[in-house]
Order: sequence, then C-alpha cells, then structure tokens
Amino acid sequence: MIQLIRGFKDILPGEIEIWQNIEKTARSLFENFGFKEIRLPILERTELFARSIGEDTDIVEKEMYTFPDRKGDLVTLRPEATASVVRSYIQHKMYAKDPVRKFYSIGPMFRRERPQKGRYRQFYQINAEVFGINSPFIDAQLIFLAVKLFHMLEVTDAQPHINSLGCSQCRSNFKKALSAFLLSVTEKLCDACLKRSKKNPLRALDCKNSSCREAMVNAPAITDYLCPECRQHFETVKSALEKLEIPFVIDKNLVRGLDYYTRTTFEIQTGLLGAQNAVAGGGRYDGLVKTLGGQDQPATGFAIGLDRLAEITGIRNKDFTKKPDIYIVALGEKSEPLAFEWNCNFGLEGIRPEMDLSNRSLKSRMKRANKLEAAYVLIVGDNELEEGAVILRNMTTQKQILIPIESLVERVIAEIKA
Ligand code: ATP
Ligand code: MG
Repeated sequence: MIQLIRGFKDILPGEIEIWQNIEKTARSLFENFGFKEIRLPILERTELFARSIGEDTDIVEKEMYTFPDRKGDLVTLRPEATASVVRSYIQHKMYAKDPVRKFYSIGPMFRRERPQKGRYRQFYQINAEVFGINSPFIDAQLIFLAVKLFHMLEVTDAQPHINSLGCSQCRSNFKKALSAFLLSVTEKLCDACLKRSKKNPLRALDCKNSSCREAMVNAPAITDYLCPECRQHFETVKSALEKLEIPFVIDKNLVRGLDYYTRTTFEIQTGLLGAQNAVAGGGRYDGLVKTLGGQDQPATGFAIGLDRLAEITGIRNKDFTKKPDIYIVALGEKSEPLAFEWNCNFGLEGIRPEMDLSNRSLKSRMKRANKLEAAYVLIVGDNELEEGAVILRNMTTQKQILIPIESLVERVIAEIKA
C-alpha cells in the first residue's frame, strides 16, 4: 500500500468542517475590513525566498523544498506567503494605481521540519498583508483582527506578544550592543549562536536552545535603541491596542525567524498547544517591496497557523454533520429513472437528497436510511407508480403519507418544510 509522505496529512470529512468554518469566519472578517482575497502560485523561483526571508535563516538554510525543474531552474514550494504577495504587488505594478492594498489569502505552505504535533511539512496559513500604509494604527488593527478572529473561533487565551525591531538605523546600533553582549556569554551559547554572534546576532534571540534562552534573558532590549520616530511608532501601536482593550505582552527578545521585519513584530501565543505555542506571527516589513525591485512602499502583515488553530478552536465541539433530508428508495425498473430525476431536483431546490442505488431489499435499504439518520424516506415501487402516488415516511414520527406523483418535488418540499 502506498502511504502519504511523512509530515503530510489528509484532512478528511469530519475534520474538514472545522476548517471550512474557520475559513468562512476569516473571509467574512477580512472582507468587512476591506481586505481582498489574493491567490498565488505554490511554486516560485527559489531566489524569491532566498532574497526576502534571508539566506541565513532556518527556513532558507534547511527547511525549503527546493529542486531544479526539468530545465534546471531552481524552484521552491512556498514556505510562507509574504514573499509571493510582495512579488505580485510589484509584478502587477499595483502601487501605480493605488499603493494602498489590503490582501488576505488562505493556502498551503511547505517546510521540511521535524514532524511532530502542530508541526507538519505541508501546513496551512491564513495570511493578511497591507501595503502602502505607514501608520502604526494599521499594525494595531492587524493585531486586533488576529485576536478577534481567535475570539470568534472560541479561542479565549490568544495572547499577543509584541516588540519593535526599529528601522535599519536603530538595528545597526542594537546589533553592535548585542554582539558585545553575546561575546560576554559565549560559554552559555550553542555553536549556531556562536556563529551568529558576529554575522547575524539577532538570530540568537530566536534560538530555541535552553541554555541560550537563559543567557538571552539578560540581553539588551532593542526597544532601548529605537530612534525617536520608531519609538513613537511603537508607542502608538501600544496605546491603540490599549484603547481597543487588547491585552498584550512586550517581549524584548521577539525577533521572528525572517530577515525582512522592521518596527512592529508580533506573535500570538496560546497555552493550549504545548510546545508549539505560536498560532500566528507577523509584523512590519517596510524595506521588502524595494528589496525585491519595487517602489519604496511600507507594508505589514501576519500569518495564522490554520492547522494549530483548527486543533484548539472551541467550534471543534459542535456537530457539523449534515444528514440527508430525504432518502429515496426506488423499487422497480420504471420507478428508478423517475426517482433519480426527483433526486436531482431535490438537490437543486436546497433539500439534501440521498438516493439508494443498490438493488437490495426494502428492509436493508430502510436500515441504511436509519443509519444515515435521514429525516424522511420516499418509497416508490412500480405499483405506486401505477396508482399515481408514492409513500413519504417521516422517520421521527414513523408516520406515512401518500404523495401524488404530479409535481412531486414541490409537494414533498412543502411537506418537509411544514
Ligand atoms: P514556529 O516558531 O512554531 O516554528 P514560525 O515562527 O516558524 O513558528 P511563522 O513563519 O511565523 O512560524 O508562521 C506563522 C504561523 O504558521 C506559526 O505561528 C504557526 O502557527 C504556523 N506554522 C509555522 N510552521 C508550521 C509547521 N511546520 N506546521 C504547522 N504550522 C506551522
Ligand atoms: Mg518555524
């Protein structure tokens, strides 16, 4: 038997209803706030991710599904959405008509990480991206939207952790201070962080190694190195969140694993997932549109982990199973084509039909109607046809009535809805 690939999974009926409901809620929330859906390819040129996410990030260094296509061009299954949205914004020169654009998208991402609970190699994200707006209020609005979406989906302990990474100016001063700090704690650092201390010290703040984490508690805070403009920007994000009554935690070591972030960064955490406590992450990426060859435009966004959200949402406890409204049993050669036609028309009229296409006995077909918990059963045999009326059985009351064949679909619907 051929099995699916490790780290990949099937989302089956029974589970998919949760996903559909999450997606429906997200779509309607985003659309209310003026976001438009964007659907982009899953396969992109490798260079797009290398240049945006950064060469020495975990994603680009070791997690991407990259391969040469048949002509030898290096292509990658997208590990995240932002880079592609930026590519599209630039490619279609969207800024020329109106630089202010708000997008959302829902789809699969691919990262070759070690599979475990809440961590897959194909996983799904709900993304929101805003272009052309510098104002800190849009950062606050994105955090607000993510938190509200969690609330709507009955996740009550979603907590935003926020930080500001400043602009390149603030960051270059901070990097020096952080490098100096890392050199003072070298005995506590893992090999990767020792390397990072010179090349990319910010990555050390992100390290999952427990000894590194311990050492980082005393690391300098980037928020102490912000220039007046970046400081003011961050203050406004915080005060806007306070006004909206969104509680948040300031996390000075929150840098996120991608190189393109500037100013506001955030992560939404929950206690319901064990080790994989992040359900969403995002932030501002003001330099990225220009880095990838577009006009200099500010941008900000976030990604929600749909798989993790589906595990913790309170709507899991609801019953989404849809039972047939009517189970159609045709007994006889003449009645089957007619019943089949009714079956198709019921479906179009918004009644859920299920037609028994077996040629088993009436008894075993009634058994199946019971098992599927059909509300009604329609029984038509060649005898009934001759007499011009068929049997409609209410499965709750066990009552049977005769329905004339003439305009049967309308009559049955009227009976069901009565
Ligand atoms: P983590 O720290 O858990 O690795 P991340 O910082 O790599 O997360 P992002 O790139 O910010 O994650 O992606 C946003 C969200 O996507 C995460 O908060 C998480 O919910 C989800 N996510 C990321 N990687 C995976 C994965 N391999 N499997 C399932 N969900 C994931
Ligand atoms: Mg990761």
